[in-house]
Amino acid sequence: MGSITLKNVSKVFGSHAVIPSIDLDIHHGEFVVFVGPSGCGKSTLLRLIAGLEDVSDGEIVIDGKKATELPPAKRGLSMVFQSYALYPHMSVRSNIAFPLKMAGEDKAVIDKKVADAARVLNLTDYLDRKPRQLSGGQRQRVAIGRAIVRQPEAFLFDEPLSNLDAALRVNMRLEISQLHQQLKTTMIYVTHDQVEAMTMADKIVVLNRGRIEQVGSPLELYHKPDNLFVAGFIGSPK
Ligand code: ADP
Ligand code: MG
Repeated sequence: MGSITLKNVSKVFGSHAVIPSIDLDIHHGEFVVFVGPSGCGKSTLLRLIAGLEDVSDGEIVIDGKKATELPPAKRGLSMVFQSYALYPHMSVRSNIAFPLKMAGEDKAVIDKKVADAARVLNLTDYLDRKPRQLSGGQRQRVAIGRAIVRQPEAFLFDEPLSNLDAALRVNMRLEISQLHQQLKTTMIYVTHDQVEAMTMADKIVVLNRGRIEQVGSPLELYHKPDNLFVAGFIGSPK
């Protein structure tokens, strides 16, 4: 579960082909990082996978099903944004429980899933607080908690740490990597930060102007960049 295939996927806004055509295979359990400069189409690609944007052409297949024919809620994915998007008037508990309430789950099931997510994310002692009573890192964990309770086939992260200060970023990077080891769920993580890509990814997808420049492990990209763009962005200084 959690395999995602993009076949000839394109996205055009007006007359601008933001994604001309992308083919990509993501396997079950992989931690895949989309990295590239600002404006290269990372968020657009993630939103196409999530179903928050419609593809202009091509097909996305998730676990053998044509996701491009499914609404976002039916794709089995959970997305975590840079801006947390928490409800300020609700407690941490209610924020995490929100997707389950919307899905009409029983209270007992909701309580258990929220407790489990809070334990994984070290939020147990904060369940009755409001978002404004939390640090930036804790808020981001609540946002991740809300993604976890839905038990998705894959997590999609869009620059989840870019609002945090440097020390906290390093911390949260480790936490997300540990979460991946624990859950073994497919994760797609978007960043413009090479260090995040190099330290977190099983597989890095280097994007430039809506095209894939190279796909490979951090070591492959570092030692064998396919071109000057990849070398300049990630590779060794040869
Ligand atoms: P990144 O996440 O890599 O910074 P984006 O995917 O946000 O890049 O944007 C890629 C390009 O697509 C940019 O040129 C941006 O202006 C354009 N774009 C993104 N969303 C829209 C939209 N809804 N309408 C028109 N252009 C868009
Ligand atoms: Mg973006």
